[in-house]
Amino acid sequence: MTLHPDVDTAVALACEAAGAWAGSDGARRAALLDGLAAALENDRGALVALADNETHLGTARLNDELDRTCFQLRGFASLARNGGFYDRIDDAAVAGPPPAGRPRLTRVRVPVGPVAMFSASNFPFAFSVLGGDTASALAAGCPVVVKGHPAHISLSRRVHQLAQGVLRSLELPAGLIGHIDIDTYAAGLELVAHPGIQAVAFTGSLAGGQALGRQAQSRSQPIPFYGELGSVNPVVVLPEAIEQGAGGLAKTLAASITQGSGQFCTSPGLLMMLDSPGARALAGQLAVEVDQAGLHRMLSERIHQGYAQGVSTLKQHSEVRTLTSAASAEGVDGGFVGLTSAAAFLADEALRHEVFGAACVCVLATSLDELCAALAAVGGSLTTTLLGAEAGSERDLQVFRVAQKISGRVLFKGMPTGVAVTHAQHHGGPWPASTQPLFTSVGFTASDRFLRPVALQDAPAWLTARAGVPV
Ligand code: NAP
Repeated sequence: MTLHPDVDTAVALACEAAGAWAGSDGARRAALLDGLAAALENDRGALVALADNETHLGTARLNDELDRTCFQLRGFASLARNGGFYDRIDDAAVAGPPPAGRPRLTRVRVPVGPVAMFSASNFPFAFSVLGGDTASALAAGCPVVVKGHPAHISLSRRVHQLAQGVLRSLELPAGLIGHIDIDTYAAGLELVAHPGIQAVAFTGSLAGGQALGRQAQSRSQPIPFYGELGSVNPVVVLPEAIEQGAGGLAKTLAASITQGSGQFCTSPGLLMMLDSPGARALAGQLAVEVDQAGLHRMLSERIHQGYAQGVSTLKQHSEVRTLTSAASAEGVDGGFVGLTSAAAFLADEALRHEVFGAACVCVLATSLDELCAALAAVGGSLTTTLLGAEAGSERDLQVFRVAQKISGRVLFKGMPTGVAVTHAQHHGGPWPASTQPLFTSVGFTASDRFLRPVALQDAPAWLTARAGVPV
């Protein structure tokens, strides 16, 4: 494969920077991450205006997202400062023959090396140039080469320039944070194929993730591909929650479905219920609320096309009844709520595909077993929300077991949009939610993706004295 010179240069610089950064101590890493957060905050006005112009997400949401991005950077800084990425497991030597007798073993973790990071279209700050993937990789001791997303490439360039200013002020090499702004699939494939790249972090479409994941696996040295590729996020509303919810539940659900015009990986795309007059009434109320929601233009023409096609497929489906009536106007797509049976949902895989945008299909089941079968058919999802399962009855256990099997996060209250950045968070789940369901892309364990364990056997004092800081 011929490499674009910009790709080759960015990766070569990242490789040059990798050794010293891997051996950096927590204070050094924290200084960089804190400096990046401060730089974003200092340029907030211009950054938010630029992001709003490119993404149409609105200044309130974008200010919040910038705050979240700084919170992530500072959270990883704090962990680095406290030695969080130099954890060790130390087994003392035991005299005598094996299996009880053994040498001293110290398990440490070393940074994998340069990481290729694909910015997400739908999070121009929090999952782009200085977002969670970058923060978790830098904190782990890895340089990052970012593929800017074409939906907000001017913002990408400006954030990258700010990052370069911070690197200069700390006398750190420019190659620690590289940026590629070539708007072709070929450039992304070349980046993943480059022998200097040692892991990939990706958020985007199933097709894009599959193409880049195949590239990562077909290298002469295959590398881990951490992809987040799509999720339908079922919300199961059990009869007690329908009874208690009345109109408030429909409003809350609609707000979650239409937030950011539905362009969230955790947007609820399925509402699953046991068939009853209350369930049908909730579906109807939901459609009214979605019709009244203030949506805005989608992030890009590609995303708009994907949404329009997905909604058109649902509208034309013989087993789906459209409940919403709002049409698209002046470049803004209308939301969609449809109604179908669990039998139809089980019979046709097309009904289980993510429609990225403000679309939700209500699935009515005639029995608990059918509800569980429909939920299981989802296969893999970032989240499942279970409302009305407070009692812990046999029924609740049955639904929960399925929810747990298909999801990275199970919620018993609230809505799945909004992902807290904490230590316990898990943002992943079985395929296609994630290509690596054992790892998370959100929260402070996201750095685990970029740290490789090494067992040191009878390590000399000069090495153990480093307390886990790689050489
Ligand atoms: P995308 O089309 O997958 O693009 C994401 C990145 O992957 C871009 O940098 C793009 O390259 C690259 N790419 C895409 N297809 C490729 C291919 N075949 N070979 C090499 N590189 C490829 O995602 P998007 O632009 O964000 O949105 C499109 C769809 O993705 C949405 O409609 C939605 O279905 C899904 N999406 C899902 C999530 C999620 O959280 N699961 C988030 C956002 C989007 P270029 O830079 O050259 O365009």
